[in-house]
Amino acid sequence: MSVVHPKPQWLSDDLEQLADTTRRFAERECLPNDARWREQRRGDREVWNKAGAAGLLCASIPEQYGGGGGHFGHEVVITQTLASLMAGGFSNSVHSGIVAHYILRYGTEAQKQRWLPKMATGEIVTAIAMTEPGAGTDLQAIRTSARKDGADYVINGAKTFITNGFHANLVCIVCRTGEEAGGKGISLVMAEVDGLAGFRRGRLLDKIGQHTSDTCELFFEDMRVPQANLLGTEEGRGFKQLMEQLPRERLIIAVGGVATLQRAIDETVAYVLQRKVMGQTLMSMQNTRFKLAECQTLATIARSFVDDCIGRALRDELDLTTAAMAKWWVSDAVCKVIDECLQLFGGYGYMMEYPIARLYADHRVGRIYGGSNEVMKELIARTMERP
Ligand SMILES: Cc1cc2nc3c(=O)[nH]c(=O)nc-3n(C[C@H](O)[C@H](O)[C@H](O)COP(=O)(O)OP(=O)(O)OC[C@H]3O[C@@H](n4cnc5c(N)ncnc54)[C@H](O)[C@@H]3O)c2cc1C
Repeated sequence: MSVVHPKPQWLSDDLEQLADTTRRFAERECLPNDARWREQRRGDREVWNKAGAAGLLCASIPEQYGGGGGHFGHEVVITQTLASLMAGGFSNSVHSGIVAHYILRYGTEAQKQRWLPKMATGEIVTAIAMTEPGAGTDLQAIRTSARKDGADYVINGAKTFITNGFHANLVCIVCRTGEEAGGKGISLVMAEVDGLAGFRRGRLLDKIGQHTSDTCELFFEDMRVPQANLLGTEEGRGFKQLMEQLPRERLIIAVGGVATLQRAIDETVAYVLQRKVMGQTLMSMQNTRFKLAECQTLATIARSFVDDCIGRALRDELDLTTAAMAKWWVSDAVCKVIDECLQLFGGYGYMMEYPIARLYADHRVGRIYGGSNEVMKELIARTMERP
């Protein structure tokens, strides 16, 4: 019998139904296309509309804006289910978990009415563009500028590593609207980029993993966007807005990580039970048993901590430090566990046709994006310096 996890308090019947809907969607629409999508380095555009029709987009956005009327738990369940099935093709956590919530929290009523309903149907795909060639970890160093001219901003700059960059119709651009140094002059400006003069997408970037997710460079050259597209009513609030939303974004990475840990272990247990070496199954060897016991212990600790963080997030009590702990510790554990599991597959673990190899390549980035793990530790340490 495999490990039985107690049902977390926040997991309602309604959420279990959503997990089931997500699973059926992934089995029908994502997994049969997975090999082709990996080959073309992106999902098909239509999968967004299909996900919208299935109720998987903007599940935690109020119904009055076309969303599912749910809460953070709905995003958690969708993320968990897609991660455990290794189903990609649409980076929903960026679209529904991040960008939709920037608009909901800081957007004007007109902005919410204009964008959220179309995001919920998949008619609009969104991306968030923070990172620049010269500014990744150090967001305060961003140089993309938005200069006022008449009723518009004129935006110049370049962004890189942008998830959903290929399909995005609406991009939340982190840019400088003022001369002030550091975070003070930073604002979030929404750009409707379809056919927009001065907007250019770069090539699909050649990543080592996550091949069903489209990751692009974006270029802005005298690109005009109405000033009405500033998110919020006041310039210079962007850095604060980013900081306020980060705990939730980091927790989403940890949530996906917990599901991935269990998938890696389950794949490996199934393999070592049938693989025979020197006349006995790999599972009967002490090294295998000890390694898998260690992996399952890590996965169980991760689940327990992340469940607690989800509870805190649902009560609006998740702080930046705890979210940073969840993000770095779980993404580190994912890499360690997948590496140990892959070793048990021998040479087969190095072959992309085995899910464990894809997990290895797909999840290395968890320690880098969403704020690198070194930065997470820096954030935690800062709170320890205070008297
Ligand atoms: C697949 C993928 C998808 C992504 N999606 C998006 C997206 O949708 N939108 C977006 O805006 N960005 C996205 N990113 C970018 C990602 O957030 C950045 O790569 C990340 O923030 C790190 O920035 P950097 O790559 O410039 O590394 P750098 O900032 O150059 O960091 C290099 C190394 O230095 C370390 N370091 C930096 N500062 C410190 C410090 N103070 N102390 C100790 N060590 C330090 C870092 O931890 C890291 O190990 C994505 C990246 C990838 C790979």
